[in-house]
Amino acid sequence: MEECIFCKVVSGDISSKSVMDTDNVLVLKDIAPKAPIHYLIIPKKHLQDLRSFEDIDSNLAGELLLTAQKLSELNDGIPFRILINNGHEVGQRVNHVHLHFLAGKELPELF
Ligand code: 5GP
Ligand code: ZN
Repeated sequence: MEECIFCKVVSGDISSKSVMDTDNVLVLKDIAPKAPIHYLIIPKKHLQDLRSFEDIDSNLAGELLLTAQKLSELNDGIPFRILINNGHEVGQRVNHVHLHFLAGKELPELF
C-alpha cells in the first residue's frame, strides 16, 4: 500500500510522534483536531474500512475498541466519542480504517 499515508506512518516512511504504539495499533494526534483531544486509532494492518474486516480481524476489532478505553484511562477516565467514517460518501478521506477518539468538550448530540 505504497500510496497509503497511514501505512507510510506505520512503516516509518513518514515520521510521526505517536501517542501509543503496540504490535497491532498506532495512535496519533489528528493534525486538524476537531476537539481538544482528538486521537486517531489506526490498525497497523491496512484495511480500507470496517467493510473490509473479516473473521480473522475480530481480535483486532476488539483491540481497537480497547485502545479507546486505554486512551480514556490515560486522560483520567474522560468521556469520549468514537467515530468511524466508512466510505467517501460519509466523510472518509483517508482510505485506511481509523477510529476518531474525540473528547475534552461537550460534543454536539448527533441523535
Ligand atoms: P477521515 O475523514 O478519513 O475519517 O479522517 C481522516 C483524518 O486524518 C482527518 O481528521 C485528518 O485531519 C487526519 N489526517 C490526515 N492526514 C494526516 C496525517 O498525516 N497525520 C495525522 N496525524 N492526521 C492526519
Ligand atoms: Zn494503509
